[in-house]
Amino acid sequence: MSDSIDQNTGEPQAATTRYTTASRANVVGCHACGLVQPLARTIEKQRCTRCGTAVHRRHPDSIARTWALLISAAILYIPANLFPIMHTSSILGSEDDTIMSGVALFWNDGDYPLSAVIFIASILVPMLKLISLCFLTISVQRRSTWRPRQRTTLFRIVEGVGRWSMLDVFVITLTIALVRFKSLAVITPGPGALAFASVVVLTMIASMQFDPRLMWDNIEPSGKKYD
Ligand SMILES: [Zn+2]
Repeated sequence: MSDSIDQNTGEPQAATTRYTTASRANVVGCHACGLVQPLARTIEKQRCTRCGTAVHRRHPDSIARTWALLISAAILYIPANLFPIMHTSSILGSEDDTIMSGVALFWNDGDYPLSAVIFIASILVPMLKLISLCFLTISVQRRSTWRPRQRTTLFRIVEGVGRWSMLDVFVITLTIALVRFKSLAVITPGPGALAFASVVVLTMIASMQFDPRLMWDNIEPSGKKYD
């Protein structure tokens, strides 16, 4: 493969690489069914020959879409923490709880592990996910060749954690209700719950829109070794 011409960029391929990529081999994988097929460069909107889904070499407008979703999530992160996540009313009275007041409630009661779990799951993890995705998107925009493997690992962690994000919405609402009112109580979600759920969903979609292959596209032409 050494010294051959890249069919997409028209540049000579790096002689140091010991593998080929789908992009270089001029094939593309279907996002839905995974079928690998030749990339038709003449057709504007190529569709998968097996399932009919639109196929792309890379996610279209990956960076712009990721940014739009990340900025929306970052804005909603503020009301998610400021507004009450739940409203509880019982014969003993009614109470509004934000995520932080829930954390403080358990901390003051001496339930340090539970308090820590809610703090990590509801405040720390969503914030770290937002920061990580921003960092990855900026690194692609700046055509960074810095530690692609570690960045790929970071992306996998963000994607993996995303599946469990909704869990703490239930944990926080159920536990606060159980601890605070040991009698029958009517619990209704506050505006913070909707904002928090939106943050989780938007971050999840942002990580889906981010195309990790873009990180490697910046490495390929340089022929830089990364292992
Ligand atoms: Zn397909």
